[in-house]
Amino acid sequence: LNTDPGNLSSSDKEFENTIRPREIDDFSGQPQLIENLSIFIKAAKLRGEALDHVLFHGPPGLGKTTLSRIVANELGVNIKETSGPVIEKPGDLAGLLTNLQPNDVLFIDEIHRLSTVVEEYLYAAMEDFRIDIMIDTGPNARSVQINLNPFTLVGATTRSGLLTAPLLSRFGIKSRLEYYNAEVLKKIIERSAAILHTSVTKDAAFEIARRSRGTPRIANGLLRRVRDFAQVLNDGQIDIGITQHSLKALNVDEHGLDEMDNRILSAIIDKFKGGPVGLTTIATAVGEEAGTIEEVYEPFLIQEGFLQRTPRGREVTAKAYEHLGRSPFRGNGT
Ligand code: ADP
Repeated sequence: LNTDPGNLSSSDKEFENTIRPREIDDFSGQPQLIENLSIFIKAAKLRGEALDHVLFHGPPGLGKTTLSRIVANELGVNIKETSGPVIEKPGDLAGLLTNLQPNDVLFIDEIHRLSTVVEEYLYAAMEDFRIDIMIDTGPNARSVQINLNPFTLVGATTRSGLLTAPLLSRFGIKSRLEYYNAEVLKKIIERSAAILHTSVTKDAAFEIARRSRGTPRIANGLLRRVRDFAQVLNDGQIDIGITQHSLKALNVDEHGLDEMDNRILSAIIDKFKGGPVGLTTIATAVGEEAGTIEEVYEPFLIQEGFLQRTPRGREVTAKAYEHLGRSPFRGNGT
């Protein structure tokens, strides 16, 4: 199942845009974040000023892009969207910034992937709404200062640990998106099903929800696949029977864990007797960056009680052994 945002096909993207909430009221969950953000947006509008710069951080698929568009929509301004690796030169950044209308939103996805030079230009733009660019080269080279319209930079990242201190300090509003519980995901699934003109029973929606790794993108993706099974095998009705059948056929994990989650748990059990083991050692064993494991995978495994952090490293819990069908006393189930 394709749930990696960096890997979405154009039909996936089109699907996501169809069901993406546009109004703040259609955005479910993250209650504290939404409450605060609504206040900041109202205050900025009352003052007729640009909203302070906003950073959304948290694992993929939790709604960072969605919220950025909602912010612009609520502010009643335009949004320009780009991403860290796309802005190659300071000139690219200058082009984006000089085209913004007063109080517009510039959304930079994957902001941790900005190049160092571009990031340094961004500081003055964020702080003083100006940008100094070098024109010409050699003896004629000179720096020209361009004043910008006030704007709001909205940055999104899955890896806030990679942001530099000077960049972080320039965001007045920093919000972490949390995993969604099954009740909220069920609501999101029901809303998406309605947009897709598909009928889904309450228990079916809940079953999809609880197996979606706390992530709306995964929940919507599973709904879409279960809908295919229902269309062909069940007259289009998504009930609990067809849902269980489909999720089994799709090899969806009982607890919604994905392949990397299971690899991390298996590695700790099989290679390190269940832990404790250091993060970098786990990273090497599964072939993933330590920071990605720490910021993207581990929070869910800890929240769901499969993994714990101890002073001596990471340790799997009895629930992890049970989930993988291993015995904690023999270590590897052999
Ligand atoms: P991110 O930018 O964090 O990777 P997106 O904003 O692209 O995630 O969200 C992924 C998908 O999940 C979108 O299709 C969006 O419609 C849906 N989604 C995310 N958060 C919510 C939410 N709180 N309520 C409803 N749908 C959501």
